[in-house]
Amino acid sequence: MPDRRVAVITGANRGMGLETARQLLAGGYRVALSGRDAHAVERARRSLGDLAEHAISQRLDVTDPASIVEAHRLIQGRWGPVDVLVNNAAILLGENDDVLSIAADSFRETFETNVFGVIETCRVFVPGMAARRYGRVVNVSSGAGQLSSMSTYAPAYSMSKTALNALTRILAERYRRDGVLVNAVDPGWVRTDMGGSSAPRSVEQGVETIVWLATLPDDGPTGGFFHDRRAIAW
Ligand code: NAP
Repeated sequence: MPDRRVAVITGANRGMGLETARQLLAGGYRVALSGRDAHAVERARRSLGDLAEHAISQRLDVTDPASIVEAHRLIQGRWGPVDVLVNNAAILLGENDDVLSIAADSFRETFETNVFGVIETCRVFVPGMAARRYGRVVNVSSGAGQLSSMSTYAPAYSMSKTALNALTRILAERYRRDGVLVNAVDPGWVRTDMGGSSAPRSVEQGVETIVWLATLPDDGPTGGFFHDRRAIAW
């Protein structure tokens, strides 16, 4: 195993992305914290104290493919190949809106970030993992995306997470024989800017399964959807 494995996290300037960075750094990984605002992500890196020694901040807007390619080039140039990708960045629009009153643009904006943004990021980072026969991809999904319990909550967001779950299945099958494990996680309802202050779970609790999936052994699961380390219904 290399000296320190290299992880990239999208949307790492706050919330669960930042906490995932903290826990992976504490576990001995090098971590590229990425975000769409370079200053915000550098501030987040500095907030990590001594752990920041093995972290870099990198601008990466998941809706801007050129920024993903540039981030990959810079991170690989600095540390070598990327081993772990945590697709954490997402937006939540129209949480309480009725499905048929949501403007088409709002659906599009949501899918741009939560689905196409993940596809574009994987397009850049995953082939290198397959070539080296080691990779871990964690798609941060949501219980809101579970078809089996789908309700009227946040229609655009929920549909985008269902699509993310489908991407997880397809990507996992595509790379099953290449050493790349691809899984989705429902972190539960977590106290962040997105989850709000009345959410029952801390960021530490929300991130625990993300970090577990990011650090799976070679015989770990792939193509699954997990909550608190347990496989759950799609
Ligand atoms: P958060 O605090 O709102 O953080 C979202 C992050 O995504 C921010 O860093 C944000 O950056 C980033 N982001 C948004 N658009 C981006 C883009 N185009 N490019 C790069 N980064 C972008 O939310 P969170 O609660 O930590 O959510 C993390 C993940 O958990 C998300 O996938 C979310 O859907 C999922 N989740 C959350 C909960 C919950 O209860 N909190 C529940 C289930 C699932 P800016 O600061 O620049 O906006």
